[in-house]
Amino acid sequence: MGGEEEIVRIAKRLDKMVAKKSADGAMDLLKELKSMPMTLDLLQSTRIGMSVNALRKQSTDEEVISLAKSLIKSWKKLLDASEEKSEEKKRNLSLPTSSSKESGNSRDQSSNKRQDAPKTPTTPKITTFPPVPVTCDAVRNKCREMLTSALQSDSDHVAIGADCEHLAAQIEECIYQDVKNTDMKYKNRVRSRISNLKDSKNPELRKNVLCGAITPEQIAVMTSEEMASNELKEIRKAMTKEAIREHQMAKTGGTQTDLFTCGKCKKKNCTYTQVQTRSSDEPMTTFVVCNECGNRWKFC
Ligand SMILES: [Zn+2]
Repeated sequence: MGGEEEIVRIAKRLDKMVAKKSADGAMDLLKELKSMPMTLDLLQSTRIGMSVNALRKQSTDEEVISLAKSLIKSWKKLLDASEEKSEEKKRNLSLPTSSSKESGNSRDQSSNKRQDAPKTPTTPKITTFPPVPVTCDAVRNKCREMLTSALQSDSDHVAIGADCEHLAAQIEECIYQDVKNTDMKYKNRVRSRISNLKDSKNPELRKNVLCGAITPEQIAVMTSEEMASNELKEIRKAMTKEAIREHQMAKTGGTQTDLFTCGKCKKKNCTYTQVQTRSSDEPMTTFVVCNECGNRWKFC
């Protein structure tokens, strides 16, 4: 967790520099960031990308700009790599399998299912999993059945060619291995997976599970928030210019006004913020942002 706190601390200091329009010490912070291992999770939880990007846009120091650019570039690679991975998987998995049998009888064929698995090597995540141990526990079997029908909520599983029963059994097995019994905690865990997998407002989760982008181990332990949000979409959104602007506006609490005319687009739809840049006996500096075209300037 230390890494995350450290990044948050750096993000706050960078944000302050941007607000003050003074990039003193920015280079050291960027170098520190460069030496830290970055993950998708950290990118999302700390939103460091937005802070660095804001600094890059404002800075006039070539060194700062180029280091900020290289950082953002390397983080985007992380993003793209993870998106490509899931895209590729989807593409592979949506290839028609030789025998895409999906029958309704869920119980009687589960034992001989593994030997004649119709899956080709294009479905590594699913086929390389160890066979799921058969269980005689009625509660567990019932849960597997309910998970199966949750995975079959719409026709995605047919298009993707997923073996829903096998997948459901794997998920159930992971939950059981984690909780070690079938008491309240186990039931709640299963129930929350089911409601999220069935959620028509979040088809991405089901698709990701069906195609293996989210593994049974992962879905078995995800929190409700993790299941509800499409992580990658979130990060991508956070990286866009629009979000950066909104983020900064929200933070500095700008006021909308028609007092200023934008020099670029000549419209009168701006937001201004007043900041005490130096000592308190100096007048406030007014920063203006055009809400139409994003043009920024300082009003003195
Ligand atoms: Zn404008």
